[in-house]
Amino acid sequence: MNITEYMGAHGHEQLSVWTDPSAGLRAFIAIHDTTLGPALGGVRIWPHPTEEAAIMDVLRLSRAMTYKSAAAGLPLGGGKGLIVADSRTDKTEAMFRSYGRFVDSLGGRFITTEDVGASTQDLEWASQSTKHVVGLSMEKGGSGNPAVVTGFGVFQAMRACAVSAWGSDDLNGRTVALQGYGNVATSLAIYLLEVGAKLIITDIREERRVDARRLGDRVSVVAPDKILSQNCDILAPCALGGVLNAKSIPQLQAQVVCGSANNQLAELADDKRLADRGILYGPDYVANAGGIINVYYELGGVYDHKRAMERTSRIYDTMLRVIEDSKEKGVSTAVAADALAEERLRMALSERLA
Ligand code: NAD
Repeated sequence: MNITEYMGAHGHEQLSVWTDPSAGLRAFIAIHDTTLGPALGGVRIWPHPTEEAAIMDVLRLSRAMTYKSAAAGLPLGGGKGLIVADSRTDKTEAMFRSYGRFVDSLGGRFITTEDVGASTQDLEWASQSTKHVVGLSMEKGGSGNPAVVTGFGVFQAMRACAVSAWGSDDLNGRTVALQGYGNVATSLAIYLLEVGAKLIITDIREERRVDARRLGDRVSVVAPDKILSQNCDILAPCALGGVLNAKSIPQLQAQVVCGSANNQLAELADDKRLADRGILYGPDYVANAGGIINVYYELGGVYDHKRAMERTSRIYDTMLRVIEDSKEKGVSTAVAADALAEERLRMALSERLA
């Protein structure tokens, strides 16, 4: 692979590499685009078998962050950190202090937060070497667990999808199937039950299924392999990526798919597969932007929860617009979401050049 050619073709600004053998650290930071503001993205801890796999992952993830922040209307660019390590066995304080120095060396062009394999504790260690960290615990003046706000944002996205599917954003009496009952789904379930929705829930972990059963008589719990084919109005993937694919889409009974999981479509053609079946897809990065919105309100001082929730409620309007654009232009909702993000980038660039 020719890395610079790939980066140029996909609009990447910068890829940085950091090694610190004494701290057991090999890390990459990819800055995709800073047209809208400093690049913000989580740090993923993953034991990629090859450098090429690690670089492709961090580049791809950084680009997705540009689109997520742009579609959410945030003055942030897209970036991502990647530490090549096993999060279960390799993490140490020295590793994250060194990662903090790596982040700091970029002088604020990149701001880091949590992603797969990282914890609030890891970020606190990193924050000893740099101020460019968000997602710290509330005790440290940070925004705490973003999943609460992410769940609220997914709820707003679902209400907007309901307008298009059924002419009203009222989810009272609608049945929503939740795949995964983790942090985000726990928050989402509360909002859905409050407005009178019925829930079908699954999780691969038995203890989470036990917790879901305690939610009351409007909730039923099914085995993980049964969730996709449930008779429901909305399917909410809240566990894994790649769940919408050529094999799963023909099984779906839902009229709307809208959830928190990143990269729900296994490939772009799956968006068309959903549309061909008359299923409305609420693009994942529009629906799950509450997490990034939440950490944005931690930047530059004291976290403001009220403003984070207000801003997250606007996911409703963004999702309505994406759906309208998709109808108007005759494109899928995923394509319409990308076009919205690209339009915001183009506008910011032309203002900068004017
Ligand atoms: P989590 O780990 O707390 O929850 C995921 C749950 O899914 C777990 O309980 C897990 O046991 C379950 N699960 C895994 N595989 C499953 C399967 N095949 N079938 C059923 N259940 C399965 O994670 P989370 O923070 O709730 O995030 C959920 C999804 O939303 C992830 O894809 C994450 O990347 C995405 N997301 C989260 C946030 C956030 O603020 N936490 C923000 C944006 C996107």
